[in-house]
Amino acid sequence: MKPATPEHPAPQDADARRAVAPVICYPVQHLPDPGLPALRAARAGWARIGEHVVPAREARCFEVPAGHFFRITSIEGPQVGDLNLWSADLSERFYSGKTRALHGTHLSAGDRMWSSFPTLRPMATITEDTLDWYGFDAFGGGVHDVIGTRCDPYTHNLLSDGGQYHHCCHSNLTRALSQARGLPLAEAERHVHDVLNVFMCTGFARDTGQYFMKASPVRPGDFIEFFAEIDLLGALSACPGGDCGGEHSSDKAACHPLLVEIFRPAAAPEGWAPPPPNGYDRSHGTAE
Ligand SMILES: [Zn+2]
Repeated sequence: MKPATPEHPAPQDADARRAVAPVICYPVQHLPDPGLPALRAARAGWARIGEHVVPAREARCFEVPAGHFFRITSIEGPQVGDLNLWSADLSERFYSGKTRALHGTHLSAGDRMWSSFPTLRPMATITEDTLDWYGFDAFGGGVHDVIGTRCDPYTHNLLSDGGQYHHCCHSNLTRALSQARGLPLAEAERHVHDVLNVFMCTGFARDTGQYFMKASPVRPGDFIEFFAEIDLLGALSACPGGDCGGEHSSDKAACHPLLVEIFRPAAAPEGWAPPPPNGYDRSHGTAE
């Protein structure tokens, strides 16, 4: 732990240095437009072609072909979901860090879930978010973050003096992927990555910078909806933290299932085409 007070004196111009105005690292006006109106228009007359109920403290995988939609809905009670996305062949995975750098700490409609290097392309575009009314609260908390990781048994082991808990989202996602693709558990685990924390209400404490969570404002019927830009394999864990207002990594919180539905539009959205892999030539300076 870092000391509570600084160990080094501030320079005389400390206030002036702190007063320097920030610049946004990645101005998003240069990103390709997701074409949200066309995506939303494509929902008219769509067909619901699949559903998966994710049991509490478990995870399930689901396939979404490119050009289809999927929707995650709260049912029965407030519940947080941890979402992983891969390309259908598992060669690409969701990159929460770069998505955060591009779109900010919390996602909503119009934001996209970007894939890892070297493809760095939109995997999914969020087309609807019934919790967009929440914004940021007085604590700096918001909904659907890409600042957390996923609850996991290794961190739990460190923080609980050797505890063994097997239904953290990391383990749930590992088991679900192993079962869905017939992979050995250890191989499946290597594909599990940092998540989009669906419905979770989180932020950073203003005084210490620590990651915090608070009870999710989600109510049954709330949903977040995505358009699949490429062929996707998804995995969703119904977090053992329930609404994440108390604790996770245990069986103490009230937990509820989550619903995943897949929709096929009658026609492809106007003007839409699957995004190509990133255009960087990958020579990394060796061709100069
Ligand atoms: Zn979790």
